[in-house]
Amino acid sequence: MTSKARAAIMTSPSTDLEIRQYPLPSVERGCILVKITCCTICGSDVHSWTGRRSAPTPIILGHEIVGQIAALGEGATHDSGDRPLNIGDRITWTIMDNCGKCYYCREKGLMMKCRHLKKYGHDSCEAPPHFIGGFAEYCYITPGTCVIKVPDNLSDEEVAPANCALATVVAGWEAAVVEPFENVLIQGAGALGFYAAALARHYGCRRIIVSDVLDHRLEFIKAFGATDILNVKGMSDDDTIQAVRDLTGGFGVDCVLEVAGIPSLIPPGLKCLRTGGRYVEIGNSSPGADFTYDACDIVWRRLTLKGVHNYDARHLQMGVDFLAMSRDRFPFKDLVSRRVSLDNINEGLRIADSGEAVRVAVLPELPS
Ligand SMILES: [Zn+2]
Repeated sequence: MTSKARAAIMTSPSTDLEIRQYPLPSVERGCILVKITCCTICGSDVHSWTGRRSAPTPIILGHEIVGQIAALGEGATHDSGDRPLNIGDRITWTIMDNCGKCYYCREKGLMMKCRHLKKYGHDSCEAPPHFIGGFAEYCYITPGTCVIKVPDNLSDEEVAPANCALATVVAGWEAAVVEPFENVLIQGAGALGFYAAALARHYGCRRIIVSDVLDHRLEFIKAFGATDILNVKGMSDDDTIQAVRDLTGGFGVDCVLEVAGIPSLIPPGLKCLRTGGRYVEIGNSSPGADFTYDACDIVWRRLTLKGVHNYDARHLQMGVDFLAMSRDRFPFKDLVSRRVSLDNINEGLRIADSGEAVRVAVLPELPS
């Protein structure tokens, strides 16, 4: 194996990433060295790159990663589902490494809120092992990470977004407690919205209404189970609320999932709920997302508002299983519509920022 490998480093926001070499780490007990085969660009990578979200520097961004096992540390023998691991196996893994011993890990079942949390693609790469992000040739997996072997029928591009976008939506779906035949509104036709629509169809929802401002996304999401699409560009909040009520017998939807990350969508979204409805807030994951709402409406109409940030290991496994069992039903493979090499990472980030592609894949081995 080579002793050095390449990574795209962000030294400060709003500047181009630069390719650097770091020495590959020796693989310690319980750790895994992965040769990255694909990393998709998440919206939060773009937000970090443009400075809309703060990130420590220098940093290797990218967390929607899939790759092949290059080296296994002593004791790293099985994945989270007890399947044996071997050199060359394709794996995905949780976005976080958690300690398993703190108050939130042990007592409250909130591994994503571990007091000693590390997140791939979110922490500084200054110190060894350096390779802790996805825009690189290798990634170093530490023992507190839940690793999942990728089923053979899934391509790298299909499975890469599972460990952020899809697993988060699965966690949000669980929080929403949606029953078959219920009506849902999905605010936002980004990657999370596409997965949410497919889950809603899979779980037997009746009306699956998706709102966004991009016509091409809304047309595309019909293939993922959306029954009704609403382009809310230029629509007043009252018109949006009325349109949702018209589609649901005048009552409003049972559940709303907010996956656009736009705080001004929350008040009209709450109004789109029927009495007793549930609102799951997922998209606004950067501070400053204030909104104003009449609390009396929440009380009188018995509304529930839940926040979901990241996910638990089981949600990633459920997401991978969902992809494997429904890849013939929904065109997950088409969510990635653009590809760049590691050398062209900056072009990839610009494409992702434009909204043209739901996901852009960074493929280390693609010739530049
Ligand atoms: Zn992400």
